[in-house]
Amino acid sequence: MAQAATEVLDLCMDLIARNSQTPEDAGCCALLGSRLEKLGFALEWINAGGVTNLWARLGTQGPLFILAGHTDVVPPGPREQWQSDPFVPEIRDGLLYGRGAADMKSGLAAMVVATERLLARRPLRGSLAYLITSDEEGAARHGTRHVVEVLKSRGIVPDYAIVGEATGAQQLGDRITIGRRGSLGCNLRVLGKQGHVAYPEKADNPIHRLAPALAELCATVWDQGNAHFPPTSFQVSNIHAGTGANNVIPGQVDLIFNFRFSTESSAESLKARVHTVLDRHGLRHEADWWLSGEPFLTREAELISAARAAVAEVTGLSPSLFTGGGTSDARFIAPWGAQVVEIGPVNDSIHKVNEHVLVSDLDRLSRIYEGVMDRLI
Ligand SMILES: [Zn+2]
Repeated sequence: MAQAATEVLDLCMDLIARNSQTPEDAGCCALLGSRLEKLGFALEWINAGGVTNLWARLGTQGPLFILAGHTDVVPPGPREQWQSDPFVPEIRDGLLYGRGAADMKSGLAAMVVATERLLARRPLRGSLAYLITSDEEGAARHGTRHVVEVLKSRGIVPDYAIVGEATGAQQLGDRITIGRRGSLGCNLRVLGKQGHVAYPEKADNPIHRLAPALAELCATVWDQGNAHFPPTSFQVSNIHAGTGANNVIPGQVDLIFNFRFSTESSAESLKARVHTVLDRHGLRHEADWWLSGEPFLTREAELISAARAAVAEVTGLSPSLFTGGGTSDARFIAPWGAQVVEIGPVNDSIHKVNEHVLVSDLDRLSRIYEGVMDRLI
C-alpha cells in the first residue's frame, strides 16, 4: 500500500484504541484537534455536562462548510463474542475491526486527512469548521444540540455540512443520506377506577376504554409520505396494566408508542390528532411526549450535486438518496439552516459485535470528502 493510502488507516486505528464509550471522548477530540491546529484551525472547546465538544474553524469568509461527527461509541457488548479486543484495532482479511470502526471513527479520520490534503493543494474559498462531540450515541443533550445553540446565539449560520455517519448499503458510495424521518414518542396513561371483576358497575375499566381508541389510532393513515419519505408510522412498543391479581380491574393502563414521521406531518400536528382521538373516546389520560427530532430533507442543490459528483469520481457509483434509518446529529444541524448530507462507509456492522470497515474504503472515503469540499469551498 502506498504511504499516503495508510494515513486514514493509521489515524482511524489511533482513534479505535481510545475506549470512548458514550459519553467518554478518551482523548479522541484532542488527537483530531492537534492535527487541525497544525493546519491553522482555531480550536474552541464547548464542553457541557461532562461531554467533550470541539468546534474548530479555519477562515472567516463564507460559505461556511462544516464537517461533523462523534467520537463516542456504543458499548461493545460481550467480549467473548468479539474475535479480537474491541478497543485494540486489528486487521484481518482486509477488514479493520474495532468498536467505532464504521460508526464513526473512520469517518472522522477520513475527514481530517481529506482536509490536510486539500489544504496542501490550495487555500480555501470560504471557511471550514469541525463540529465534533462525544455525546451522539447517548442522550445527545449536551453534544451537537448544545454546540449548535451556542453558535446560533453568535449569529453563525453554516451553508453546508457533511456528517460522517456510515451510510453505505452494500458498498462505499452506493447510498448517501439526505434527510431523516422525525421521531416522536409518548408515554400515555389512561385512568379508570380499580375494582372487583365481579362488580364492574362499581369500577371503570381503563383497558376497555383504551381498546377502541387504540384500534382507531392503529388504523389511522397519518399521511401518505412523499417522494423521499414513506408514510408516517405509528407503533406501540409497550402496553401494561394489571395489579397482579386476576380478579381485579386495574385503575390504569400504560401505553408507550412512537411515531416515525415524514415531512408531511409535524410533531404538533400528530400530537393534536392523537389528543382528538383520545378526547372523542372520552378518555381521562396523562400524556408525556418526547420529541427526538423533527424530520428534515436537504433540497437537491449544490451540496447534493457535489456529493453525487465526488462519489461518482471516486467509486464510479451513482448513490441513492436515502432518508431511512435511525436518527443522527444531522437532525440538529439541518434546522440550523445548512444543506446536510451524511456520507460514510458501509453500515451493516454498526453497533454489532465485530464491527468493521473495509481497509481499502478508508482512503477512498477521504477522497470523497475532499471531492465534495473541493467543489464548494
Ligand atoms: Zn454514529
